[in-house]
Amino acid sequence: MAGEPQDDCLFCKIVAGQVPATIVRETETTVAFRDINPQAPTHVLVIPKAHHRDAAALAAADPALAADVLRETQAVADEDKLESYRVVFNTGAGAGQTVWHAHAHVVGGRGLQWPPG
Ligand code: IMP
Repeated sequence: MAGEPQDDCLFCKIVAGQVPATIVRETETTVAFRDINPQAPTHVLVIPKAHHRDAAALAAADPALAADVLRETQAVADEDKLESYRVVFNTGAGAGQTVWHAHAHVVGGRGLQWPPG
């Protein structure tokens, strides 16, 4: 069921403390942790604690929670003192999504090209 923890979900396990992560921030509804394979000096993932398979499903099921995630991306940028940064929601396999628990990538700390690859 949407929002319920999934046994086979890596990010649900991070939320539950069953898989270690370098946690940057935590709120009642979200967790932010450093990406295990960083693509920039700052590469943090912000996730809702509740399980939703991708950003679109999250926004449809719980817009307030989607707003919490977006607000936390700004807080992460503030924490790492980023003046410029990028927030990415890879949505669907064709866009590079590999973990099926909604997450925002916060990427910064170096120059970023546009368009992305
Ligand atoms: P996606 O490709 O947009 O789904 O992003 C998933 C991200 O999760 C990738 O950037 C991975 O490097 C990252 N990742 C996978 N496993 C872990 C982990 O255990 N801790 C932190 N980040 C992870």
